[in-house]
Amino acid sequence: INSKLPGVGTTIFSVMSKLAEEHNAINLSQGFPDYPCDPLLIEKVNKAMLNGYNQYAPMPGLMSLRALVADKTNGLYHSDYHPDTDVTITAGGTQAIFTALTATIQQGDEVIIFEPAYDCYGPTVKMLGGQVKSYEMAPPDYEIDWDMVKRLFSVNTKMIILNSPHNPTGRTLSAHDMECLIKLTKGTDVLILSDEVYEHLIYDGAEHQSVARYPELRERAFIVASFGKLLHTTGWKMGYCLAPENLTKEFRKIHQFNVFSVNTPMQFGIADYLQDAGSYLGLPDFFQEKRDYFRKLLAQTKFNLLPCHGSYFQCVSYAHLNEDPDVDMAMRLITEYGVASIPVSAFYTRNTDHKVLRFCFAKKQETLEKAVERLIKL
Ligand code: GLN
Repeated sequence: INSKLPGVGTTIFSVMSKLAEEHNAINLSQGFPDYPCDPLLIEKVNKAMLNGYNQYAPMPGLMSLRALVADKTNGLYHSDYHPDTDVTITAGGTQAIFTALTATIQQGDEVIIFEPAYDCYGPTVKMLGGQVKSYEMAPPDYEIDWDMVKRLFSVNTKMIILNSPHNPTGRTLSAHDMECLIKLTKGTDVLILSDEVYEHLIYDGAEHQSVARYPELRERAFIVASFGKLLHTTGWKMGYCLAPENLTKEFRKIHQFNVFSVNTPMQFGIADYLQDAGSYLGLPDFFQEKRDYFRKLLAQTKFNLLPCHGSYFQCVSYAHLNEDPDVDMAMRLITEYGVASIPVSAFYTRNTDHKVLRFCFAKKQETLEKAVERLIKL
């Protein structure tokens, strides 16, 4: 078959999780919690199923859940999203990203992506006939020089993809970054796809710079978020997309023919749960504690720790230890030391290798301890 995506293999998350299983390694590669979610949430989903909510949900999602999403967002970021016209419930963040891109990107459109980048952005753009314009960020701080970003703009620039807190680097966009972006896109019709699935995983008292805060940006933006990160349930594959009415209209044209609608009892259960729990309010502290603990442990290893301002990923550099490609280094950690990580070169279109590995710390304390006990031997 004439492949639509030649050169694209299986996503690094599946590859590394499978290897971890085969080698019985501690899996700090793919990002997911290894501790249970709140049993109350499971009860609420159960209740929805028992109460007979087992048929199709409305195509854009359950109204009560959309209303909660709009209220939460508008409350946090002083935006004005309307549940009826601006919120769509999706089968996870990745589906929302895929749908937003499919709804907008056409042959020849250029999309600016900051790399290292979550691995679905580039291939999806290419599959749609679009062209990726990469801005490569580099360790240790993965700073963005907006004057350089400006050089990537052309008459064909259709979209810019943001991700803050950033996977894999843990970088967060600052108010200054947002000002630069506003200046850069002012007077253009460049769209924004803002992947904010880690919005509540932000540390040291920092404020999440949601695109929703900025009227000039949000009027041209799709914002993608994830219940998996909010509720520690990545396997439920539940998320949502916020966008102004004209963009949501296009989004739903694709959504209805892709999944049509998503899991009904989950939507009821989550809506019920979010109604009486400001559950996400504790997330920054919960994960900051894990980050601090993991960093303290990792300080005993030979790795150099890179900064982590948000997300549940901690990157380390081993550039001072050896010159091995990061893919080889990650393989060695799995096969010889029993710890799975993600080689960050997988997140660069050109596979740029800065000798950096990503570890997920959304894990039980004992998992982190066991992993570092093994890594100390390196
Ligand atoms: N977002 C998760 C990560 O970065 C993985 C999601 C997936 O496996 N598709 O590890």
